[in-house]
Amino acid sequence: MSIFFVLVQQNFDVVWCRGKVEEKIFWPWLESMKVNGLKFRDNKMVTDFMVNEDTGCISGVVCGQEIYEADAFILAVGVSTLQSTVISSSALQSRQEFLNVLSLDTIDVLSVKLWFDRKVEIPKKANVCSGFDDSTGWTFFDLNSIYDECKEESATVLEAEFYNATWVLLLSDEQIVAKVVSYLSMCIKEFQEAIVLQHTVARFPKSATHFFPGSYKYMLWGSTTFPNLFMAGDWIVTRHGSWSQEKAYVTGLEAANRVIDYLGGLLVVGNESGIVLHDGIIDGLLHLDLETTIGLQAVAARAMEGLEI
Ligand SMILES: Cc1cc2nc3c(=O)[nH]c(=O)nc-3n(C[C@H](O)[C@H](O)[C@H](O)COP(=O)(O)OP(=O)(O)OC[C@H]3O[C@@H](n4cnc5c(N)ncnc54)[C@H](O)[C@@H]3O)c2cc1C
Repeated sequence: MSIFFVLVQQNFDVVWCRGKVEEKIFWPWLESMKVNGLKFRDNKMVTDFMVNEDTGCISGVVCGQEIYEADAFILAVGVSTLQSTVISSSALQSRQEFLNVLSLDTIDVLSVKLWFDRKVEIPKKANVCSGFDDSTGWTFFDLNSIYDECKEESATVLEAEFYNATWVLLLSDEQIVAKVVSYLSMCIKEFQEAIVLQHTVARFPKSATHFFPGSYKYMLWGSTTFPNLFMAGDWIVTRHGSWSQEKAYVTGLEAANRVIDYLGGLLVVGNESGIVLHDGIIDGLLHLDLETTIGLQAVAARAMEGLEI
């Protein structure tokens, strides 16, 4: 939603997903990857990496008691997750670039969706606010104007998001709803009378990268000093002009290309794969997280054997 606000401000030509992004985009992607032979290992926490002392390459990813061997690896986790992994990983601690990540920071995010008992006119569909307390910035969005499924609603449905919201996260759902309504009432006084019929509160601790002055030098690039370990995510340095979800997607594609380069460009792409190679760029439906990485290795390995994927 915050991205929507920025785009609205810039009069950007944006395509809005009709329906839930998970249902319309991510789940079909996962299905198509499974169909193409990718295996997902759920609920595995990466704790360390095995290093081949002769080559300096990563030879396996350690998940507690289990080790997954592979030819190439992509780490696609957020800053706070990688910080935890660095703390538990002697392999990553051996490299300054990963120690630098410990100097980065994240912020807490809170998302609140409210269904009211009446229609309150909200002059602008996307709104950004600050100054209500010292540290928290927040946005609110008129979902009746944005989402197809809310357009016909006779009452107001809105979503508010709070950034750097550490103290708000500690409150109960009821306290949060009361606070959001009091903040809204300061912006549009009709909310004072409106009653909240239904609410959803979602807490995202340490979920967003804090891009503070001086943090750039601590951020990782797509390639690392381990020749076969690559990075993807919305905080990874790229020369592409994207950010947030789009940046995660772009750096994921870049990482996939780096894997192909590393493996010698031997990836053979079949028609049904959903991945298309043109001009050295993979243009396809890839959201790379760690579980996917293990699958990607399997795809690459099959391709190296000359199998169509
Ligand atoms: C409330 C909220 C609203 C947002 N709204 C927008 C928006 O409107 N538009 C937009 O572009 N962006 C938005 N963002 C930002 C967007 O969610 C991120 O930019 C994007 O998810 C980053 O993708 P990623 O793949 O880099 O990381 P993530 O999506 O964080 O993926 C990391 C993955 O790693 C997995 N993982 C974590 N720990 C481990 C471990 N130890 N081992 C293995 N796997 C692990 C996680 O399960 C997860 O699947 C929003 C974020 C929040 C919190």
